[in-house]
Amino acid sequence: MNILITGAGRGLGAELVAEALDRGHGVIAGVRHPELAQEPLAQLAAIHGDKLTIAALDVTDEGGIASLAASLKGQGRTLGGIINNAAVLNARDTQIEALDLQDMLTTMDINLYGPMRVVKHFLPLLTESECSIINISSEAGSISNAYPGDYPYAISKTALNMFSQQLHVYLRERGVQVLSVHPGWMHTDMGGAEAPTDPRSSAGGIISLMEQRNAPQGRFMFLDYTGKDMDI
Ligand code: NDP
Repeated sequence: MNILITGAGRGLGAELVAEALDRGHGVIAGVRHPELAQEPLAQLAAIHGDKLTIAALDVTDEGGIASLAASLKGQGRTLGGIINNAAVLNARDTQIEALDLQDMLTTMDINLYGPMRVVKHFLPLLTESECSIINISSEAGSISNAYPGDYPYAISKTALNMFSQQLHVYLRERGVQVLSVHPGWMHTDMGGAEAPTDPRSSAGGIISLMEQRNAPQGRFMFLDYTGKDMDI
């Protein structure tokens, strides 16, 4: 299977690339600045050669996304999976009285509209058998676990879950599996050094969810990276 992964230069994104390549999949690794791509992507490119394509992909740039999709389609490239991983965590622990609404706009632009732009333009390439779209969500987006603060991030992930559900309903007859996945609290730049989860373990779980495709059909699927149901 060929998999498009956004935010692929570091954190969970880079581990998803490494895990997918190790399992024999082809990867299109979307990064904001491919000219600056160093470790770990440069090392993976040296090992895996043509199986890895490193591409310019800023999820806020709809024109760039459309051009990339058209260029890959023109080369006859196809996809079996899209992983919308890129995201930001702005205005952490900021209460409503102090919230700068610009942080809300920026976060929604990346965390929600980013996946929407990517799916809009890459859906025509999702033609391999047994396709999946995985939107990397967060337990912070769970309405039943809402806590004050982190408004932009939490609200963007709740809305992303709605986008997943809408896509699920739209694409189920085509047999496309659509999941929202909480990757665990991982030690990445976003999660911090004290986080308990190794992003490589999370990546392994997420690629397995794509490969196994055993999520029950017909209902909203918000899972953690081990396949356990998350509260909506
Ligand atoms: P990091 O902050 O470590 O990495 C974020 C990635 O997103 C980077 O590759 C960054 O690229 C990319 N990115 C940011 N803005 C854009 C943009 N406009 N266009 C393209 N790429 C962009 O985050 P994590 O790896 O920790 O998080 C990965 C996913 O997991 C996210 O969706 C996050 O919300 C989710 N998550 C993470 C948790 C954690 O504990 N870490 C917990 C729950 C969910 P660049 O290098 O160019 O900045």
